[in-house]
Amino acid sequence: AKGSKGAMHWFRKGLRIHDNPALVACLEQSPQRVYPVFVLDGNSYQLLRCTALRANFLVETLQDLDENLRALGSRLYVLKGDPTKALPKFWKEFNITHMSFEEDESGEPYAAERDEKIIEKAQKANVRLFSQCTETMYPLKDYVTKAGAKGVPATMTGFQKLFKSMKPMSKVLPAPEKEDFPDMDEDDLLAAQYLPPKRPTDLPWPRGIPKSEVEPLWGPKDCKNLTPIVHGGETLARKALTESLKRSNWVATFEKPKTSCTSLAPSTTALSPYLSWGCLSPREVWFALDEAVSRASSNVKPSKPPVSLHGQMLWRDFNNLMAHDANKEVPGCWNKMEGNKYCRQIPWDDDPRLLEAWKTGKTGFPWIDAAMRQLTQEGWIHHLGRHAVACFLTRGDLWQSWEEGAKHFEAELLDADYALNGFNWLWLSCSGFFFQYFRCYSPIVFQKKNDPNGQYIRKFVPELKDLPSKYIYEPWEAPASVLQKAGVKLGKTYPRPLVDHAVISKENMNRMKQAYDAHKARAQTQGGAAKKKQR
Ligand code: FAD
Repeated sequence: AKGSKGAMHWFRKGLRIHDNPALVACLEQSPQRVYPVFVLDGNSYQLLRCTALRANFLVETLQDLDENLRALGSRLYVLKGDPTKALPKFWKEFNITHMSFEEDESGEPYAAERDEKIIEKAQKANVRLFSQCTETMYPLKDYVTKAGAKGVPATMTGFQKLFKSMKPMSKVLPAPEKEDFPDMDEDDLLAAQYLPPKRPTDLPWPRGIPKSEVEPLWGPKDCKNLTPIVHGGETLARKALTESLKRSNWVATFEKPKTSCTSLAPSTTALSPYLSWGCLSPREVWFALDEAVSRASSNVKPSKPPVSLHGQMLWRDFNNLMAHDANKEVPGCWNKMEGNKYCRQIPWDDDPRLLEAWKTGKTGFPWIDAAMRQLTQEGWIHHLGRHAVACFLTRGDLWQSWEEGAKHFEAELLDADYALNGFNWLWLSCSGFFFQYFRCYSPIVFQKKNDPNGQYIRKFVPELKDLPSKYIYEPWEAPASVLQKAGVKLGKTYPRPLVDHAVISKENMNRMKQAYDAHKARAQTQGGAAKKKQR
């Protein structure tokens, strides 16, 4: 049977069978055999610097995908290594003539370079490629076309207008059925060679990168007792979607700023890891939101974008469009200061000690530390928690570069997403898109009114769990007797605050002002020079 022609679908991020037009297109080629393939590539954005928690999420997702495909008489073939080498080998071995995949439009540099090489190799090997853009609700290139000569808008209001002007979104495709898959050889279905990984330690490490840059973050002992906010896989993703949308009044009145970031169970949908890995299609989520809103009681007043749940999906497309646009000018600039047209150049400090304290949740500010430890333990933080820790690291308190913060988030978040992470770090550090640097989150009082007893802190910073509520946000204010009773020794069992927030936040606002003034002066000089050149 290997002599007969085969087609393959290369799963990359869209790790699902529902609403997967590229997979459907592959099946429609009516080849004699179809191979659904995933390549475990340690150097990919998703796996480079990835923690045990996220590695585990991927393992669960691939296992689930394999099971769902087996129920359709197919299976998942998992290859390891550099796709530009592993795929051509596979094409040859299985006589592949067609390959489909979901396009990566954000311009993430590793994926972009990889795809360029694959396209070249496929041409040489006479493998016909076909791709679809379903990572966002509309293909990013459709937004670009619609925006026309004036270019894509760089504000959410502008983006909302652009979104409204688009033609109706294409319908969601159902999952393929058993009859859609050609019969496969028993041998191929059973071959143990390409089985999905069973545990995170089966995943490959990045290659060719100095150890100093990518330290293996985990070993077998770190893979025990993992406590992710959600587990991986399309099956669980679909259940989670149905479950959160059951509460139609909640969906219809959802306002992001009013959700709590200190509740112990997520107060938002927690669908982000599923959207980021493509276990759910954003279009399907959008239509499901429509449906939930239509079920809501007639007396509720629906919320609107940008704060509604539909609005969150719009932010997602908008973030992707911005990444796409920045990278089109300077490839790979999106999660960097240099060359990124959306980023103001700010002279951040570089203090590894401060960065490490932030990463490990040892800044001495209990609310910040709780959020950073939730990130490590669960791979997720509520949006406003992300706001607080990102502001604290950058313009608020520690004056460290947002690039370093973004890198840490990329490693630890289950939902790590190139476009969304970059956009939000630009925003929070007031480097791009948001410029009100005089509005700064207090690491002390920000959450006091939502969680006066500090239940969130007590969970994630257990060394403070016996402190009275009065001091849980600022243990340094507690009298020695109170600290002693609670078993807290400042500087020993829990750190003293790294900075004096009241003082440093003012100083940093001044530094921001200077950076903004310098930016303005540079822009004026460049503008003047450009005008002179034109003349
Ligand atoms: P919900 O509020 O239920 O929203 C539903 C979906 O809308 C989310 O799953 C997400 O896909 C999208 N969405 C929500 N908020 C945003 C937003 N502000 N921008 C763009 N899309 C949004 N999100 C990621 O998925 N990956 C990241 O790497 C990431 N990095 C971030 C870094 C920082 C510094 C900040 C402040 C935010 C970041 N976000 C990131 C955005 C946001 O915090 C998460 O998407 C959201 O908290 C996930 O929870 P949820 O699924 O319950 O969101």
